[in-house]
Amino acid sequence: MDCLFCKIISGDIPAKVIFQDDLVVAFDDINPQAPQHKLIVPRKHIATLNDLQEEDNNLIGYMAQTAKQLAKNLNIAEDGYRIVMNCNAGAGQTVFHIHMHLLGGRHMTWPPG
Ligand code: AMP
Ligand code: ZN
Repeated sequence: MDCLFCKIISGDIPAKVIFQDDLVVAFDDINPQAPQHKLIVPRKHIATLNDLQEEDNNLIGYMAQTAKQLAKNLNIAEDGYRIVMNCNAGAGQTVFHIHMHLLGGRHMTWPPG
């Protein structure tokens, strides 16, 4: 499958991996939008949030738990951080394998762009 994140997960394309286990891989975003910008990606290929099945509920919860733990490790948990999942082009999704952005290390404004 011609999927960038599947290739990072398989090791065919390099990335700065900061955490991985049997369910998820987390690595530095190549074009960081904050001092800390990590991507938490499930090993399972799911193209968009619209493709989520009920069987994926635990996986999404696990991605959030991973983000929480990484935020703590990165020392951004107390100041605050943002989790973003873009769904489809209109929301800015460019890689069609679901992922959580974990952004922190600077003040965030609202609403997002
Ligand atoms: P999205 O626009 O929500 O689909 O997010 C895709 C993210 O993947 C963007 O923030 C990109 O900077 C990031 N990205 C693209 N290619 C790579 C890569 N080879 N390694 C790490 N991050 C990447
Ligand atoms: Zn994929």
